[in-house]
Order: sequence, then C-alpha cells, then structure tokens
Amino acid sequence: MCYFEMTRWSCGYWKWGNFKQQCNKEYRTGETCGLKLVFDTAYQMDHCKICDTIGKKERRKNKMKDDINRWRREGNRRATIEKTQQDVDDLERQIYDLWETHLEKQRTL
Ligand SMILES: [Zn+2]
Repeated sequence: MCYFEMTRWSCGYWKWGNFKQQCNKEYRTGETCGLKLVFDTAYQMDHCKICDTIGKKERRKNKMKDDINRWRREGNRRATIEKTQQDVDDLERQIYDLWETHLEKQRTL
C-alpha cells in the first residue's frame, strides 16, 4: 500500500494525484506496490472538468432546441431542423456517456 494525494471535487468526482510515500512492502525506489491509499485529500470547491463539459454541451443542446422550436413556428426550415435534431441527439448521447463516466467514478470510491 502506497500513499497518494487525492483530489475531490464538490460534485463527487475524484482522481489520484501525486505519489507521496512508499509503504514498507515496497523497497524499489520510485516504485509503488499497486495498492493506493489516500495520503491527503485536496478538496476543490467547484465542479470537475466532466461537469464543466456536460454544462457546456447542455447549454449548446438547449440553444439548438430553442432554434428548432423557432424554426418549426416559422416553417420552411425542414432540412435545417432535421440536421439540428441529429446534432441534439448526438449531444444527448455524449452527455449520457459523460455522466456514466462520472457516476462510475463516484461508485468506485
Ligand atoms: Zn463532476
């Protein structure tokens, strides 16, 4: 068991940081035994990068949905609406995948 720094974000996401201290089972200099323990935790008050990315994609998706609704009212934009709807679907899939990654990380703590 070797000791590492850990960073935790307010949203629950975390990652390992710098290697801090070897345990007494590991004698090779600079090597780690593979079992990680928390040396100390650096708490981040804001959200993690994944949340940032999700937020940006959500905003883009919502803007596209607004556009689609406006175009539907205006009419005559069928091709553009279809194209944009595909982009919205893509974004929704990406957002879903990002959340899966995020939740998986929270589960493994
Ligand atoms: Zn997050």
